[in-house]
Amino acid sequence: MSHVFHRHCHTPLPTVVSGQGIYLTDSQGKQYLDGCGGAAVSNLGHNHLRIKAAISQQLDSIPYAHSGFFTSNSSEQLAKRLAEFAPGALNHTYFVSGGSEAVEAALKLARQYFVEKGKPTKSQFIARRQSYHGNTLGALSVGGNEWRREPFRPILSAAHHIAPCYAYRDQQPGESELGYSLRVANELEQKILELGADSVMAFIAEPVVGATAGALPATAGYFKRIREICDTYDVLLILDEVMCGIGRTGTFFAFEQEGIVPDIVTVAKGLGAGYQPIGAAIVHNNIYQAIADGSGFFQHGHTFMGHPMACAAALATVDTIVDDGLLGNVKRRGSQLMAKLNESLGELPYIGDIRGKGLFIGIELVADKPSKAPLPSHSQAHKAIKSAAMSNGLMCYPMSGTIDGKAGHHILLAPPFIIEEHQLDELVSKLHTSLLQASVGWM
Ligand code: PMP
Repeated sequence: MSHVFHRHCHTPLPTVVSGQGIYLTDSQGKQYLDGCGGAAVSNLGHNHLRIKAAISQQLDSIPYAHSGFFTSNSSEQLAKRLAEFAPGALNHTYFVSGGSEAVEAALKLARQYFVEKGKPTKSQFIARRQSYHGNTLGALSVGGNEWRREPFRPILSAAHHIAPCYAYRDQQPGESELGYSLRVANELEQKILELGADSVMAFIAEPVVGATAGALPATAGYFKRIREICDTYDVLLILDEVMCGIGRTGTFFAFEQEGIVPDIVTVAKGLGAGYQPIGAAIVHNNIYQAIADGSGFFQHGHTFMGHPMACAAALATVDTIVDDGLLGNVKRRGSQLMAKLNESLGELPYIGDIRGKGLFIGIELVADKPSKAPLPSHSQAHKAIKSAAMSNGLMCYPMSGTIDGKAGHHILLAPPFIIEEHQLDELVSKLHTSLLQASVGWM
């Protein structure tokens, strides 16, 4: 009997014992190709010597000192590096230990900013349906995944939701891409007007939606219009790049491809590449300055924030991405993977859509291709695919998310940035085999 409280109480899991490059090995000696980086975490693959050396060096000097008493070289250097990478005035970083904590910090920063600015009536968040921002109560409150929210609804705080940008399902026949982008983005303006601009503090969204949709980029022009609306009504724009940030889409931040700069961006997962748990909220100078010049104290904090070992691992991770030219690799391998997936899976009757950016790719499963009817909500397709893939030595991330409140099934692919072309072939071939095996059960 395992004494670990596993989330899936009745599903025994293999015991992982080692990793090398894009492969993991379990205690039986079986190898798995890491096709999803866990959950878009292991961006540099496993057993990376440079990251291990950086952690070991930090361990030898000072592994931990409370951030209320000391700063550290690794956190200072990492924040400086992130300020160099982040465009505009995004130049102060608040370090935490993961994605949900980064989102909580961003939400509370937005609130304290308006309190400091003498606008305490601004207290409402707007977010999108079909979004995931974490499992802690604040993050779950702004999230739009009904299945995850359902049991906790009575204890969530109020948040308002507008439509996602989901062209595959929502763009009308004859509607141009820009027309669609503007139509859905304008829902934000309608919601702000309905609530009153004086009561809205921030809008939060994922530039590329992850955990509820495989991977789902916005259509062109959507985020430009969102930025405009936020500026018009003095509403902060928080972009959640916990999953899609730190190079995963081919640029350091996914929002760079949208031609906008948010007021706060949250990152985690790939920041420490799995070598250490770390998250961060990277904050616009205006927000930092309002708090620094006001009470001088952000009323929030965690024991492990700015952990020197986590910061050392993250510093080595971002430096490796730059020094090894990995953003170029993400773009090149991403378009190769997309082409190979279309060729191998495109004709299967239950593959509705293959989409994404860089090495962040989502596959949407459907019951009927022409009508795009989703698989029924009771379908266990995600479980069947995961089990077939694991037995074929492939880690991919099948999920049952939601499609505007109803069930939807997706697969996320997010392999390490170091993946080579022949390994893409292995990934696609194993996925193809696994889908053929699993679909026998769910069709
Ligand atoms: N935001 C986004 C966009 C995420 O994808 C996730 C995790 N899937 C989170 C927040 C929460 O991060 P964590 O699981 O590290 O708390």
